[in-house]
Amino acid sequence: MATTLTATMRAVAVTPMRAGSARQVELPVPTAREGTALMRVLEVGIDGTDTEINDGLYGEAPPGSDFLVIGHEALSVVEAVGEGLSGFRQGDLVVSTVRRPDDCPNCRAGESDMCLFGRYTERGIKGAHAYMAEYYAETPAFMVKIPPPLRPFAVLLEPLSIVEKATAQAWKIQERMVWEPKRAVVLGAGPIGILGTILLRLRGLEVHVYAKSSADTLQARILTSLGASYESVADHPVMGIKDELGQVDFILEGTGSSQVAFEAMAQLGINGVLCLTGVSAGNRRIEIPADVINLQMVLGNRLAFGSVNANRRYFEMGVDHFQQAERQWPGIFERLITRRVRFDDFMSALDRRPEDIKTLLTIADQ
Ligand code: BGC
Ligand code: ZN
Repeated sequence: MATTLTATMRAVAVTPMRAGSARQVELPVPTAREGTALMRVLEVGIDGTDTEINDGLYGEAPPGSDFLVIGHEALSVVEAVGEGLSGFRQGDLVVSTVRRPDDCPNCRAGESDMCLFGRYTERGIKGAHAYMAEYYAETPAFMVKIPPPLRPFAVLLEPLSIVEKATAQAWKIQERMVWEPKRAVVLGAGPIGILGTILLRLRGLEVHVYAKSSADTLQARILTSLGASYESVADHPVMGIKDELGQVDFILEGTGSSQVAFEAMAQLGINGVLCLTGVSAGNRRIEIPADVINLQMVLGNRLAFGSVNANRRYFEMGVDHFQQAERQWPGIFERLITRRVRFDDFMSALDRRPEDIKTLLTIADQ
């Protein structure tokens, strides 16, 4: 196999904490060593974390390297398998997880998304190169096999895994009482907001999405086709949600705005739970109605929690939900892919436009 491969490959790297440093680099093609597989990358999704990394706000190079290969959302195909590797064959479609464990109790139990010591790495984000390259090598523990019919949208599995974890955690937490959630609010209409809405609709909840863009955008049309309502915060501010809707059982925050996160606490209904997923890398200070929030949290048994990353269990749940959601709303996931960019144009892929939902960098066509 190895003889058919070129010796070097193209990748996109940044210098962490330096704004606008994304550039093309040439790297040696990894080999499929014993127990690993060599993956050929088909396409890579771009998200807010990639943009923050390229803005110099976030990200860390691997030890001994002064650059970081980015791109933590990738669909790949197994190109070659090393000796002793089982469970995967050449041609299998794969999405790999992002986080790699340290030796803390959570990581050792397979839940590196709950890492206690913080010495984990994240491919493409913290201390490890990722997938915005023609090839990468991986071990099966972090590879999730994709059924071929999911090929057109499987690149969305990583962002889906984030909301799989967020919702599964909320439901688990709410086992603290009798909880029969009926109404959910989703804040933000990016991929996290839309994928979260899909999962909440699959759970049978009434879903109301509040976001910045106006009601005549593709985001709003997709959300209403899922049976959710869509309101623009220009006319329906977050602070008014509670008065507008009444009892809200669950809020999923996916905007990355710390102000929205705090305002959301004041919108929860009795026994309600708020899940925060947005990463806010800045250092903003705001004024909040602290007495009101505190009183409500206590008197209504309300709860707010943060959720980051996802271990492979949540990727596997995502594979199932992809299939369920496609049966209910055929073509729904492909509608989220609003821009495809060729490798040479990676700079334009990293540049986020208001009408973008998910931008993909195409590395290979098949
Ligand atoms: C990724 C997560 C990661 C988080 C924080 C997100 O964009 O999807 O896997 O844990 O950033 O680094
Ligand atoms: Zn850990």
